[in-house]
Amino acid sequence: MPAQQIDGVLLSQQLRAEIAERAARLTAAGKQPGLAVVLVGEDPASQVYVRNKVKACCDVGFHSVLEKYEADLTEQALLDRIAALNADPAIHGILVQMPLPKHIDPHKVIEAISTTKDVDGYSVLSAGELMTGLEGFRPCTPYGCMKLIESTGVDLRGKHAVVIGRSNTVGKPMALLLLQANATVTICHSGTADLGYHTRQADIVVAAVGRRNTLSADMVKPGAIVIDVGINRDDAGKLCGDVDYAGIREVASHITPVPGGVGPMTITMLLMNTVEAAERDLAQRG
Ligand code: NAP
Repeated sequence: MPAQQIDGVLLSQQLRAEIAERAARLTAAGKQPGLAVVLVGEDPASQVYVRNKVKACCDVGFHSVLEKYEADLTEQALLDRIAALNADPAIHGILVQMPLPKHIDPHKVIEAISTTKDVDGYSVLSAGELMTGLEGFRPCTPYGCMKLIESTGVDLRGKHAVVIGRSNTVGKPMALLLLQANATVTICHSGTADLGYHTRQADIVVAAVGRRNTLSADMVKPGAIVIDVGINRDDAGKLCGDVDYAGIREVASHITPVPGGVGPMTITMLLMNTVEAAERDLAQRG
């Protein structure tokens, strides 16, 4: 029987309906959730991403601000804007779209965002909170992958999860979230000698590489759950992920499509983190 497709669009819709209800309650209490999205430069993909994020905010009833700057904005000017947004009571989440122009240090910028507004979960402190199991903002893409895995109903205790990729934004936090959910976790990367040896033992595989056909059907254990984070183009220019979707569908129990799997969940979890930030602000400051 072909694998069940995990529908990220449908799950996103359900979660966004929940977020909209929470936003309405906050707004009624005088605390409409607010997200500031900052874009520096003209990168065409980034322009689309920020537009989608701002639209998603409006759809769930958030206040949202899009700040666009020329590519020659100085690092200090950007840090000053972040300081102003940190102090703005109408803003609960700050997202600076990456990549930034080369003359701006992304680490400095991420660390300048107040921890209480770090809804991307990229700061060293947020990473430490995840590492130590403290409450905090989880990076949106792996957080969304966890929701997709949870939607299958699988109990991760006693399961073996293999994460392919070890970036700070996807692979590493993904592995930590799986570990926190009691899976036994293996992390693979470009230096892994025999990727298939590891993935064939996995009950759950998360592929976050950025190279199509990284995972083929013969590398997957029958009945495994496969989450495809990758965004690539095939020879015809069509969007595709890191895994051979058609082949693996014949082997796995569940699989996410590209598009329509992880992608919509990433923005949804950004909304989730922002509504949570506003709820914490209401609880702490009224
Ligand atoms: P990244 O920073 O480039 O990391 C890629 C990882 O893949 C690295 O850890 C690299 O290993 C590993 N890798 C490369 N070749 C490999 C191979 N042959 N075998 C095993 N591992 C290999 O990318 P990223 O930011 O994590 O993103 C990964 C993919 O997810 C990209 O396609 C990106 O566009 C996509 N993405 C999608 C979403 C979404 O919302 N759907 C969000 C974020 C990212 P080394 O560390 O050894 O170099």
